[in-house]
Amino acid sequence: MMKIEQAMKFKKLFENQKAALLYSHTLLNEDFNLKTEELADEVDLSSAEAEQGMKLRLRNREALLLKKIDAALEKIQAGTFGVCECCEENIEFSRLEVRPTASLCLTCKEQEEMRETRSADGRRSKSSGLKNHLRIA
Ligand SMILES: [Zn+2]
Repeated sequence: MMKIEQAMKFKKLFENQKAALLYSHTLLNEDFNLKTEELADEVDLSSAEAEQGMKLRLRNREALLLKKIDAALEKIQAGTFGVCECCEENIEFSRLEVRPTASLCLTCKEQEEMRETRSADGRRSKSSGLKNHLRIA
């Protein structure tokens, strides 16, 4: 278990990240609306579409990150933040500093990546979608 003052440090970090994400989300949405209005006279449709596609991907990434931040905040609340979801050992503090939303310790993460590499050639496993989500952690 993590010391309370360390957990609070992460709580503040996540809250700041969340606020920044929500803010950029709003900006992106406003820009989106503007673009669809402009589309009427816009000749260069394909580049506008490409730009929207890029923004959609960015928004998906942000939505995913937001979910991770919420999950991390819940863990802080529950007192399980910094505990590996796989082996239930403490996640290395140095790892959390680099990747605060990490839900696996380094050993479990490496094992997961090894499994992914092995199953990467050949068919996609049923859970590959979920794993891809985790990888962005
Ligand atoms: Zn672990």
